[in-house]
Amino acid sequence: MGHKSDKKLIVNGKRADGRELDQMRPIEMQIGLVNRANGSALVKFGDTHAIAAAYGPRELMPRHKQEADRGIIRTRYNMAPFSVDDRKAPGSDRRSTELSKVIRLALHPVVFVQDFPKATVDVYIEILQADGSTRVTGINAASLAMAAAGVPMTDLVTACSAGKIDGKLVSDLNGIEDNFGEADLGYAMIPSKNMVTLLQMDGALTKEELVTLLNMAKESCKKIYEMEMKVLKEKYEKALE
Ligand code: UDP
Repeated sequence: MGHKSDKKLIVNGKRADGRELDQMRPIEMQIGLVNRANGSALVKFGDTHAIAAAYGPRELMPRHKQEADRGIIRTRYNMAPFSVDDRKAPGSDRRSTELSKVIRLALHPVVFVQDFPKATVDVYIEILQADGSTRVTGINAASLAMAAAGVPMTDLVTACSAGKIDGKLVSDLNGIEDNFGEADLGYAMIPSKNMVTLLQMDGALTKEELVTLLNMAKESCKKIYEMEMKVLKEKYEKALE
């Protein structure tokens, strides 16, 4: 992000990939593709594809790590070596450690951890293809996977990105926009509570721009929420037939 370049991100009022400024990439969601997991989901934002698998609540081992009065949530964000053009070195690094942590903190507020003392919910997030906004795509996948696993939750957590490219404010940054834009924002919220659980920003914005971007992110999150509810309902209505 923020590298000066001659790359044109907006041409004739449209983004390089043909999108309007406030348009998200095509979104696809699917639940239940990892059979061994208690719940799983695949979420695609354009060419960014994230799969999440949730296990638990299950007994936390070793026992000395258990909390007597509540459960814990563990998350692991990982980018597959083949997810980017130049092979990503396998294994964890500073970035994936940070993302695993912020994703856990974004999800934690919706979970009734007091309902499963001494236990853990483990959520693994694998980025299969990376083209910008992987952390927020991963949060959506994780939240759906947890809901599908039957983890006690008040609501889903929905997430999206927004930013500034070629001087314009836009929704859902792709990789090039993230790399060559002026600012990018990662955002997650609990729709039913209107509560923000992730807010990260890279780059420079005026106060007014930030306020506009936060509103744009909220609108995007609402659309994502509707899609998530629909995919969950479809899955479980079918199961009840
Ligand atoms: N990226 C990459 N290799 C890396 C890390 C990131 O190619 O090792 C790309 C990828 O497309 C990613 C984007 O850079 O989506 C932006 O990464 P950032 O750290 O801003 O997080 P994200 O936007 O994916 O949440």
